[in-house]
Amino acid sequence: MAAHDGSFDGVERRGLMFVLSSPSGAGKTTLSRLLIERMPGLRMSVSATTRPMRPGEVDGRDYHFVDRARFEDMAKRNELLEWATVFDNRYGTPRAPVEAALSAGQDVLFDIDWQGTQQLREKARQDVVSVFILPPSAADLEKRLHTRAQDSDEVIRGRMSRASHEMSHWAEYDYIVINRNIDDAFAEVQSILKAERLKRERRTGLTTFVRELQRQLES
Ligand code: 5GP
Repeated sequence: MAAHDGSFDGVERRGLMFVLSSPSGAGKTTLSRLLIERMPGLRMSVSATTRPMRPGEVDGRDYHFVDRARFEDMAKRNELLEWATVFDNRYGTPRAPVEAALSAGQDVLFDIDWQGTQQLREKARQDVVSVFILPPSAADLEKRLHTRAQDSDEVIRGRMSRASHEMSHWAEYDYIVINRNIDDAFAEVQSILKAERLKRERRTGLTTFVRELQRQLES
């Protein structure tokens, strides 16, 4: 397999599911984009959603924008790995691309909420690594929501009031990153992924590799 995770001489590993969650505006979208750009072997899971497209968003890149009937159909056919209702809209993870990436030894990055994270964990606990991103302060979060300016004031107010509720799930996550500035937060998230890729439990072929090393050392 590719050398991005130190795989060599038959030592490979199962792909992992790397989940980033946070209240809206805590910088998760930027962190996801940087991870995809800078970490080889990592694919973004593109969710399906019933929410309207925002300016600048591209169908198939940011989300698969679908109507309610199509979403219900996907859920009924078991085509979604997990799904949840967030801000009155449905969001869900299409199953097939995730399974294809994982079985090809790729890691998959998910930008999903705590409800989706719980569902993934129930299905594949040992393959899920979850990170919760916190803003450094409430004022910072509000500023970012306004700067982003993609939503109406009413929507922003709704998101602020939801933020505290979403944050109450922080303790269900494996790692917590406080996004004081994007460079440091990115370095932290990247370190988590790098270390998790090296975990013994995920790696196959190590026994054979070490035996071969020992054989060479002892001969
Ligand atoms: P937004 O509308 O701002 O893009 O996303 C709203 C929330 O929905 C975010 O917290 C985001 O992480 C979450 N979300 C996006 N896609 C999914 C998904 O496929 N499943 C779940 N459970 N949550 C999602």
